[in-house]
Amino acid sequence: MRRSNAIPAAALVALAVIVCVAAASGQTAGSGDLPVRYEELTSPDFIKAVARSASTCIIPVGILEKHGPHLPLGTDLIDVRELALRAAKKEYTIVFPPYFVGQIFEAKHQPGTIAYSTPLMQQILQETCNELARNGVKKIILVNGHGGNTQFLQYFCQVQLACRKDYAVFLYDPSDDDTANEKLAKLRKTTLDGHAGEEETSTMLAHRPDLVHLDRAEDQSGEDQKRLSRLKHAYTGIWWYASQPNHYRGYGAAGNKEFGELALTLDSDLLAEMIRSVKADTKTLELQKMFFDGADKPLETKQSK
Ligand SMILES: [Zn+2]
Repeated sequence: MRRSNAIPAAALVALAVIVCVAAASGQTAGSGDLPVRYEELTSPDFIKAVARSASTCIIPVGILEKHGPHLPLGTDLIDVRELALRAAKKEYTIVFPPYFVGQIFEAKHQPGTIAYSTPLMQQILQETCNELARNGVKKIILVNGHGGNTQFLQYFCQVQLACRKDYAVFLYDPSDDDTANEKLAKLRKTTLDGHAGEEETSTMLAHRPDLVHLDRAEDQSGEDQKRLSRLKHAYTGIWWYASQPNHYRGYGAAGNKEFGELALTLDSDLLAEMIRSVKADTKTLELQKMFFDGADKPLETKQSK
């Protein structure tokens, strides 16, 4: 499935710029004197970080796409890294630099979208994981900040079984938390939401209010246009464009800092819990080894009870 060996130069330049901007913001979350941000660790300290993190690292997966008329292109990128950094403060792990290669074909008609080809998005994520593992990170945690990546990242986890690996990939997949949902519901003002609406606008207001242009939130419509409502029991790739051609779903104007702060706190609690459980887990790698041993010699796999 993988074709291209070259990462486009533009991607590397953009990544470097974002890393610099993130570093310049002065947030240096850490455990003691050890930074959690990958790019802030010295090479000798990286060895200590791998040990302290129990060989774990989060890759916060974002994207570059329109977020309504009022939020920045990097909304998912910026928000998911904030979530990862907050969780890493609660339970130490290394947080990989901003990562924006993912599935976003559905927004190609909007200015600013960077939609890489499928083989490249698969290959760069795989090679990033391979390189982390070569550096001693044997448990890689993917935290998704972008709805369009959901199926891609699940598929990516599945294809890790294609050939033997000495590391495991875990996707953050929080179970529904009724208590958290009740707390959030009390602050929520709108029902239609999903992209640059109340929740994402609130989250950005909570930690980067300077990037929110609330006065422009009603310049475009975030209504569901239901242009495929006659189609029954069918999934088709154009579904999102059919509903939200402005690449906006919900009402950003309803955004408020309090809601965003609560959402970030609750989510980072769950992510910290996941990090803790991944650090303690020995079973996944044990089972993977057993599986790959069996896959090498399937005729020797026991067929009896
Ligand atoms: Zn988003």
